[in-house]
Amino acid sequence: MAESFDIIIIGSGPGGYVTAIRAAQLGFKTAIVERAYLGGICLNWGCIPTKALLRSAEIFHYMQHAKDYGLAAEKVSYDAAAVVKRSRGVSKRLNDGVGFLMKKNKVSVIWGEAAIDAPGKVTVKPAKSEAAKNSDAPKGALGPGTYEAKHIIIGSGPGNWCGPISKPWSRSACRSRCW
Ligand SMILES: Cc1cc2nc3c(=O)[nH]c(=O)nc-3n(C[C@H](O)[C@H](O)[C@H](O)COP(=O)(O)OP(=O)(O)OC[C@H]3O[C@@H](n4cnc5c(N)ncnc54)[C@H](O)[C@@H]3O)c2cc1C
Repeated sequence: MAESFDIIIIGSGPGGYVTAIRAAQLGFKTAIVERAYLGGICLNWGCIPTKALLRSAEIFHYMQHAKDYGLAAEKVSYDAAAVVKRSRGVSKRLNDGVGFLMKKNKVSVIWGEAAIDAPGKVTVKPAKSEAAKNSDAPKGALGPGTYEAKHIIIGSGPGNWCGPISKPWSRSACRSRCW
């Protein structure tokens, strides 16, 4: 028999994981489905890693202008690989943090690609994307299968299902409207 939840949320980006935490805190038996990386675009590819890269660029800029601040910095240079490594590290820390928050709030993580086959029925298949192959499901995650829920929430916005579900906007339309 399919495992049953009060609420299943599809997508663990900022929209999805925060919803999941709140639902669980309110006493609902909650699950979240993710096909790639916990934390979604924002934590793994968007807001967070780009700001980490920008921070390196900012510090580089300050070092080049150290004299303006009464400081001295000689032979200022950069190591692009190390800058990217730092950015990936920051993302990984937050990605792990979402896994921790799911566990702490007793939200079940289901790993794979979700589809809504019928009202209240979510089918999860192994994810096809390259990202998913490279990422690790958090310990204890449930696998592909059929799950039931009283409520299904699509917790995936601008990056994926932006706009009305019946007629999602294109990615570029989402970018101009949502950012
Ligand atoms: C380069 C870049 C920089 C950005 N910078 C900022 C910024 O500085 N500030 C800001 O506010 N916003 C920024 N954004 C926008 C921000 O990333 C998005 O607004 C935010 O990620 C949307 O969150 P979300 O939860 O709606 O969806 P997403 O973060 O897109 O998460 C959706 C999740 O759902 C999963 N998923 C989708 N479909 C399925 C399925 N069928 N089955 C299972 N899982 C599924 C995806 O794998 C993904 O993990 C940036 C975006 C990019 C690309």
